[in-house]
Amino acid sequence: MKYHVDDRGYYGDFGGAFIPEMLYPNVEELRQNYLKLMYQDDFQKEFHQLLKDYVGRPSPLYFANRLSEKYNCKVYLKREDLNHTGAHKVNNTIGQILMAKKLGKKRIIAETGAGQHGVATATVCALMGIDCVVYMGEIDIARQAPNVARMKMLGATVKPALSGSRTLKDATNEAIRDWINNPVDTHYIIGSAIGPHPYPDMVTRFQSVISEEIKWQLKEKEGRELPDYVVACIGGGSNAAGTYYHFLDEKEVGIIAVEAAGKGVNSGESAATSKLGKEGIIHGCKTLLMQTKDGQITEPYSISAGLDYPGVGPLHSHLYKSGRGEFYSATDDEAMEAGLELTQLEGIIPAIETSHALALFKYKTFKPDDVVVISLSGRGDKDLQTYIDYFKL
Ligand SMILES: *Cc1c(COP(=O)(O)O)cnc(C)c1O
Repeated sequence: MKYHVDDRGYYGDFGGAFIPEMLYPNVEELRQNYLKLMYQDDFQKEFHQLLKDYVGRPSPLYFANRLSEKYNCKVYLKREDLNHTGAHKVNNTIGQILMAKKLGKKRIIAETGAGQHGVATATVCALMGIDCVVYMGEIDIARQAPNVARMKMLGATVKPALSGSRTLKDATNEAIRDWINNPVDTHYIIGSAIGPHPYPDMVTRFQSVISEEIKWQLKEKEGRELPDYVVACIGGGSNAAGTYYHFLDEKEVGIIAVEAAGKGVNSGESAATSKLGKEGIIHGCKTLLMQTKDGQITEPYSISAGLDYPGVGPLHSHLYKSGRGEFYSATDDEAMEAGLELTQLEGIIPAIETSHALALFKYKTFKPDDVVVISLSGRGDKDLQTYIDYFKL
């Protein structure tokens, strides 16, 4: 079984590029150039220099002593929460802004739901002095005011998406429309391992610095490069893809994904895409997708805005269907409890997205000598109000 993307942009049955004819030149330009540009020496040098000096990489691999004791195994946390801007997303936006410059683009567009990807994009645009337009649903603009303010302060223009449910899906449609109208000077920075080929593969490669570091960090700490398990939460699947990447072909490394079950997998209010999804097309790729019998996309729900996506990246659909990955889903309540537990055992307040990965211990028991590496995808500052309301702090 092959787990990396093939020449046609497929992971098994999933992936590809299902795009309107008018988008073809933009996507094709990227497809023909991304690998060539990304692996040029000067690109790699600048990318790694920025990851080091601007983002603060390598992010620590932290042995979580008290968490390990409680769950009777060896838990390591990959501290993406310590990155500049507070999550893994910046690894991808740094990579893509360099790609945009190589392609001679003068303007960046992006979509955002909760605003995290919008902030990571506005940040690298400020860094490079490039114009930035972020599309965001009108409803999301109202509920994510601090991130809207951050983007504006960083110099980005935030354009409201006024159609449909006025959330992420509609913002994405607006961004695609913009790209069709500005094919020559604009690059579209997609925020997760989703979209038409080559985006899932490109985003995964930029995020793969996570598993590259885990290998040498684990070698230092445990005397071996391979953990027994790697664990990540999945929205679109970019922190997960980066955490799994260098272990995909290592059969002895177990791959574990945790999705958002919202109020329960069968409650009608969840984002448990692999469990509930059927094959369909969203944002230019064929993947597992929550939909009605006649193919209308179902509104997803999760307490964490970053997991609130009705599809999942094509790599993950393949990992699920092929059985290479073990998929679990955690409810809002389970995630919130797991977030509080990490805070009180280790003194780390995680993003609520990340708390879903930590809820895995409710479902799976490990052996005492199992080395379990969990992607701590982001910090909880942005979620403080949700924690306050939930726990009545
Ligand atoms: C956006 C986000 C996620 C979900 O996105 P993926 O592409 O699935 O990684 C997870 N954790 C944090 C902290 C995020 O900001």
